[in-house]
Amino acid sequence: MSETGDIKETRRIPVGVLGATGMVGQKFVSFLENHPWFEITWLGASDRSAGKKYREATSWRLSGVMPRAVRDIVVTECIPGERAPSLLFSATDASVATEIERAFAAAGCTVVSNSRNHRMEDDVPLLVPEINPEHLKLLLQQKRNRGWTGQIATNPNCSTAVLVMALAPLKKFGMKRVIVTTMQAISGAGYPGVASMDINANVIPFIGGEEEKMERETQKILGDFTGSRVEPLAAKVSASCNRVPVVDGHLMSVSLEFETRISEADILAAWRGWRPLPQQKDLPSAPPCPVIYMQEPDRPQPRRDAERENGMAVFTGRLRRCPVLDFKFLALGHNTVRGAAGAAVLNAELMKSEGYI
Ligand code: NAP
Repeated sequence: MSETGDIKETRRIPVGVLGATGMVGQKFVSFLENHPWFEITWLGASDRSAGKKYREATSWRLSGVMPRAVRDIVVTECIPGERAPSLLFSATDASVATEIERAFAAAGCTVVSNSRNHRMEDDVPLLVPEINPEHLKLLLQQKRNRGWTGQIATNPNCSTAVLVMALAPLKKFGMKRVIVTTMQAISGAGYPGVASMDINANVIPFIGGEEEKMERETQKILGDFTGSRVEPLAAKVSASCNRVPVVDGHLMSVSLEFETRISEADILAAWRGWRPLPQQKDLPSAPPCPVIYMQEPDRPQPRRDAERENGMAVFTGRLRRCPVLDFKFLALGHNTVRGAAGAAVLNAELMKSEGYI
């Protein structure tokens, strides 16, 4: 970082991706192509892929072609070693993420993880740069507690990521109760995900573990940092999660009760006027307007809106009075961008700009 606080390195920071061959790993590779600060120099996966060139080890499932710069990188096993860079994005399978991420953090690396494994640990930031940048201070405690020279920061589950962006600007009104029902895209289940015989022309009213994750992660993200720990948001959160035949974009219906009497105009003004830290700092992946309210009565829609703003904004719509709680509305976000790879890259950008990397 320069003396003025601007990041003006001419040489980009070398980064690696753990779990690079999987669905989220590919999204990292694609999202980081041409990133102004970070350059992929290292790709890790299982021993099934290690030793092969990335193009041979990976069945590319995203639109467009595999970025040229990574095609010939030889995939490495996810074991800390001299060739791994000190900044790693993690998209490893949850069954192995705990040990792999800890090993890299113990070896002095910064692991910016998309996996669920460490999210709810007390000394691990569950970070959304627009909402809780002060939770990064947990990293100092994490290093002390664990004796690590490296560190682990996480981003939320894909459905939580969308919900908290819509809720955060409204926290100042005092939230009492939140009820959310999701309509989640099939890409959120990885590849091959849900069988076509199950999801075609159907809705599956169950996603294992998702409702508990949404409820607890929301409270941690919107919680207050007390100087040594995060005090979870006291509001009750009730989630019902459904898988629907949509490729990308989680849509959700939200009902909210507040502690204070507020109007629809107050909510709209809070969303429209929200200019949190990443936008003030103009971080490369921060969308100019993090929450965009759509006036049309039939929007937002996953197919039409999820990809807009590079997949990093959350779209709200249909704000109206709720006869049971106070207000209800819809929220939509891109699950593999704002809910996965894009979220982690924005986390790393914040960590770099705040001096944690
Ligand atoms: P995936 O497609 O199954 O990819 C898993 C990755 O982990 C692959 O690169 C795989 O490498 C690697 N891996 C598996 N076993 C390994 C081992 N023993 N050692 C090292 N690497 C190993 O899964 P995904 O959908 O991308 O999800 C990755 C993580 O992100 C999971 O923790 C998931 O819960 C989380 N997540 C996913 C989404 C989503 O939208 N899909 C959203 C949020 C969070 P090989 O190819 O060599 O097997």
